[in-house]
This record gives sequence, structure tokens and C-alpha cells, in this order.
Amino acid sequence: MGKVSGFKEVNRNTEKRIPIDKRVKNWKEIYVPWSKEEASVQASRCMDCGVPFCNNGCPLGNLIPEWNDLVYNKDWETAYKRLSATNNFPEFTGRICPAPCEASCTLSINNDPVSIEMIEKNIIEKAFESGFVKPEPPKFRPAGAAIEVRIVRKTCRDGLSEAHCILLSITLLTGASSSREYRPISITFPISSTESTRFTTVAL
Ligand code: SF4
Repeated sequence: MGKVSGFKEVNRNTEKRIPIDKRVKNWKEIYVPWSKEEASVQASRCMDCGVPFCNNGCPLGNLIPEWNDLVYNKDWETAYKRLSATNNFPEFTGRICPAPCEASCTLSINNDPVSIEMIEKNIIEKAFESGFVKPEPPKFRPAGAAIEVRIVRKTCRDGLSEAHCILLSITLLTGASSSREYRPISITFPISSTESTRFTTVAL
């Protein structure tokens, strides 16, 4: 735990949004990024709970108290490593996740929760800026395997209306791309409006 009294001294804050009349003119980020100092101050609110409900609330099991402490202490590289240990795409989840971690945060019992999602976004964005994010190509690649997915819609043949039953036919082509010897695999999923979980594999 970085700052023992942080949660008592600091109010929750999030990045400010760029005015709508400006941001509708481009596809850039809609938030004004925090400085490292601002992110550190927000991370100081984390109480490093003995039972961190944020960690359980996160579907990925993100190590939230750990990286909050690292951000508070401005160790951005280690924070990025701890975030990457459980999350392969924090640049997405730091923006669009509904943040059940924040709903689970102990601080929200009688205060505003820690700005966990925005701290997460800042960790990954600052990691990109600092060059911490490196490509990690696989050490071994199977000999040029390729997969192609085709989706074809068909109506059922047994007289049911399309609204009741739609067949999605997915064809996977697998094989060595070097030799172009693809082996087609067809998988058909009957999807009914009343039995949407009934899947059948008809041919492999
Ligand atoms: S529940 Fe909230 S205060 Fe507790 S460790 Fe998680 S983020 Fe920090």
C-alpha cells in the first residue's frame, strides 16, 4: 500500500472529456490524458484491502491493488508487467470495460471507488509511450497453417420460417499455406429463436 491515508485525502477523479464540438471532428482519444502525477495521486486512494474485492470483481482477475501501488510509486514498467500478467488487451478494457472492479471496490461502500479502469488505461498508454510494450512472436510456428472462415446463411428445409430457424454454415480451411493443400471442414450450427443454445456439428 503506497499512501496509507490516500483514500481520506484524495477525492476520486477521472480524465476530463474533450468538448464534443472538437472531438466529433476526428477519431482521436476523447479524454485528456492524465499526467503521471495525476495517475499516481488517484492510485494513492487504493487501500490495498486484505480481501481485495476488486480483484474478484474483475473477470480477468486483474492484480489491481498491486498495480495501484506501483502506479502510486511511479514504477510504470513493473505496473505494466503486472497488468500484462492477467490482461492481454488493457488498451481496450481500460476504455470500454463496464468496470465491475469499481462496483466491487471496498471504497465504494461509503465513498467513490478507486478510478481503477482509468488507471489501467494509463498504465498501458504510458507503457506504449515508454517503449515497454514489445512484440512477442511465438518461438515456434506450425508450417504456415492458415484458417479461413466463411459464414453462409440458409433457411431451414423443414418448413420452419427463417425467423424461427437460421443455419449458419461455417467452413474452415486448414492446412499448410506453403503447399496450398487446404482441407475443408464444414460446421453447421442450427440457431433457433426459441432454442438459441442448441448447436449441432453436422460434418467434419
Ligand atoms: S477494493 Fe478498491 S480499495 Fe480495495 S484493493 Fe481493490 S481498488 Fe484498492
